[in-house]
Amino acid sequence: MKIVFFTTAHNSLSQRAFVELVDRGHTVVVVIASSEEVMLEAVEREHPDLIVAPMLKKVIPASIWQHYTCIIVHPGIKGDRGPSSLDWAILNGYEEWGVTLLQADAEMDAGAIWVSRTFAMRGGSKSHLYRHEVTEAAIQGLLETIAKFESKTFVPEPLDYSREDVKGRLQASIKQADRAIDWSEPSASILRKIRCADSFPGILDTVLGIPCYLYGAHEEDVLRGTPGEIIAKRDGAICRATGDGAIWITHLKQKGTDGQPSFKLPATHVLGDCLAQVPEAPLAVDQAYDGRTYREIWYEERQAVGYLHFDFYNGAMSTDQCERLREAFLLVRQRPTKVIVLMGGTDFWSNGIHLNMIEAADDPAHESWRNIQAMNDLVRELITTDSHLVISALQGNAGAGGVILALAADFVYARKGLVLNPHYKGMGNLYGSEYWTYLLPKRVGGEKAQELTEALLPISSRTAQQIGLIDEAFEEDAASFREHIRKVAQELASSHRYESMLEEKRQTRKNDEERKPLQAYRNEELQRMWMNFFGADQSYHMARKNFVYKGLLPYPKRDDAGFERGSGSFLDGARQFAGDERYRTGGRVEFVAGQDTGWHYGEQPARANYGGRASMTAEILDGRAMSAEIKAELRGEVRRYVEKQGQAPGLGIVRVGGDAASGVYSKAILRMAEDVGINARLEQLAVNTSADELRALLVQLNNDQAVHGIIVQMPLPAHLSQRMVVATISSSKDIDGISTRSAGNLFLGLPSFLPSTAAAVMEILERTHTPLEGRRVVVISRSNVVGKPLGMMLLQKNATVTICHSCTTNLAALTRQADVLVAAAGRARMVTDEMVKPGAVVIDVGINALPDGGIVGDVDFASVREIAGAITPVPGGVGPLTNVMLLKQCVQAAWQLAGEKKKFKTAALR
Ligand code: NAP
Repeated sequence: MKIVFFTTAHNSLSQRAFVELVDRGHTVVVVIASSEEVMLEAVEREHPDLIVAPMLKKVIPASIWQHYTCIIVHPGIKGDRGPSSLDWAILNGYEEWGVTLLQADAEMDAGAIWVSRTFAMRGGSKSHLYRHEVTEAAIQGLLETIAKFESKTFVPEPLDYSREDVKGRLQASIKQADRAIDWSEPSASILRKIRCADSFPGILDTVLGIPCYLYGAHEEDVLRGTPGEIIAKRDGAICRATGDGAIWITHLKQKGTDGQPSFKLPATHVLGDCLAQVPEAPLAVDQAYDGRTYREIWYEERQAVGYLHFDFYNGAMSTDQCERLREAFLLVRQRPTKVIVLMGGTDFWSNGIHLNMIEAADDPAHESWRNIQAMNDLVRELITTDSHLVISALQGNAGAGGVILALAADFVYARKGLVLNPHYKGMGNLYGSEYWTYLLPKRVGGEKAQELTEALLPISSRTAQQIGLIDEAFEEDAASFREHIRKVAQELASSHRYESMLEEKRQTRKNDEERKPLQAYRNEELQRMWMNFFGADQSYHMARKNFVYKGLLPYPKRDDAGFERGSGSFLDGARQFAGDERYRTGGRVEFVAGQDTGWHYGEQPARANYGGRASMTAEILDGRAMSAEIKAELRGEVRRYVEKQGQAPGLGIVRVGGDAASGVYSKAILRMAEDVGINARLEQLAVNTSADELRALLVQLNNDQAVHGIIVQMPLPAHLSQRMVVATISSSKDIDGISTRSAGNLFLGLPSFLPSTAAAVMEILERTHTPLEGRRVVVISRSNVVGKPLGMMLLQKNATVTICHSCTTNLAALTRQADVLVAAAGRARMVTDEMVKPGAVVIDVGINALPDGGIVGDVDFASVREIAGAITPVPGGVGPLTNVMLLKQCVQAAWQLAGEKKKFKTAALR
């Protein structure tokens, strides 16, 4: 069957349902149902047999549910209705709860019932229950529903509150006031309040005077204090006394001020120095401890087997956590055991590097680097262990580097029903490390490794076993899985083949090392990661920011609004659209799974390859390759310049204050400049620098014979005017074309420096030999950094130019006439195939962050590539050329200042 999912997020339940149905041969299209239009459009396109809503907060339009069977998965018992089902069940301490699959109807959650299942409630947070009991019941219920649907004879049972088995009722949405904490209450009651809001939205409280949402609550049996008092800290968590004991809280999210969003971090990180007087309560990894408490890493030993547990919140592993786990592993390795079992945690095995901690760092690029190195150091210890056999025992889901971490062991076992995401690329094109280029092909072969890393889709533990990614999947629930693992580990330790297996392992490692040293894999991966973290392409940083802030990026400060967008840099763009409500709902994310292969596969629609859909026609214009080509040319040009002038071209980057993101951007330019041989230096000024001081620095750079190009990072702090900057920078050094003189020269058709993004578009058109003379070019943008300058440049190339903007009527009628279409509106996927003339060249300047962390352009790549003649992708199109154009103009400026005006011009002026 073809099944469309309407879901608010492709969360753990949605992913699990996806893999289960794909494993059973169904075609599943996951639609992030952000609006009615998205749902209507998906149905019109896909004509599904069945629609399933695994986790939908929106109402399905009547025109859909009247014509298609739409099944809603509701996390409540029969008759329960309302948005806070599970929250109430936990808060009220119910002993039994359930999941009901019902048909969408005019009234929310009141449709006829297909299946309802119940389960016994355990302790644990809402997300813990959701990942285990709710998901299991929902999946079983969904499979039963599909069987009933296929039978074509089943009639769902109308909701009837007079029936005895209908015990649920309509419940109001839960409010913060319903869960407000009084710390003199007993621990059990406080735990229920925190847990019924964990992981979302979190319960609001005040900790040491700071308003914070609380997460990750654990019982504590020994420590005691005055109710409300913070009495201890351990591994990032704080212990707070209650009316009858104490509880641990691992994570806090500070309530944002001025409506600014924030994100979860370890409690001690948020409270920082406020905890100076609070004592540490260390608990050694191998210290036996009977009572209930909180510990992240602990070790237990039974006979010849050592079990190392690491239960990191959400499976994220920071630099510090990786280092502590590595130290624990080294300790465990010294024990006279035979087998080490890496147990992970019950909810997650691992999800790789800790994006929240990275985002919170002063220098996220640097912290990303430290974190991946720490992960690699840990993985290396696992791979090179020759004293023990090592088992990875996955009780919970794993993603990205977390999956690879598991593969570093000799045996990998997983609980049935897990979802694994063995890929990195979805996080802004992250290449990934953890020796995956060694470990993944070793397990599944090169071709499958490629498929897994490119498809960016979740797979079930069943599929993982089929393709050899793991050795075996067994047991549905975590407790049975742990028991089973103990048996497997004991058998391995007492196997008569133990010594020969160990010897075989040593030999294989030795052979592998001779073939290609581990360090070589690491170096190659890290080279790519370096580019992700410090290179010109900011996709990873944007995607991480978006992921961490859950799509609600911080607003630009009120003061920033007064500034024109000068540099047209990616980061400025990001800050601009971050505050725009229209970006908050974002676009659609779709995944398509094919039914024509043995195991599931599927791709984002960009490379959709299913169901007899028309094959793609457009040539993909590869911005990265062009950028590499230009850099190579630049190196040669810089060499010639140095030979002739006796010094390298010089670049001055001025940054006043600035956030971490703009720091990353500066570093990226510095690195790229260094790479091509330009002498670049960063002039970092304090945030309170006066206008006179800034002007003085610019004048000094204007007069500095060693500096040929000047860039000032925007936005500036509120007290400094951009106008002063553009008036002060010497037009002969204005390599980002921001000055009125540069703009005027461009307007008059005189030689000038150009805004780098517009110049990048022209460079692509030139390098791809796109004819412009007499052609109709439509540009969607009239901004000062893209649309207006681009219009001028295109006119100079004798194109017939139409500039469109937000007030343009019947945009599609105009864009359909374009031989060349440039989209730079900053509106995710606004240009669809119906707006494009067949065979047109489509240049996508837009960079739009989606709520799920992905980045898309202004063009709906999937549909447009099937009609256009050529198209730039996002990321990997215009973006990579923008910085390189700055450097190109810097070299051009150097030649001009040396009196050699004809040398090395940008495409627009050739
Ligand atoms: P901007 O100043 O907001 O300009 C957007 C332009 O698009 C405006 O002229 C606007 O019209 C027009 N527009 C917006 N919505 C429209 C609609 N629905 N129909 C027609 N026109 C519409 O943005 P920007 O700074 O130029 O950036 C534009 C995009 O390019 C962003 O996604 C940004 O991230 C990206 N960008 C990429 C790079 C790069 O690749 N390196 C560099 C810079 C920017 P009005 O003027 O009438 O409002």
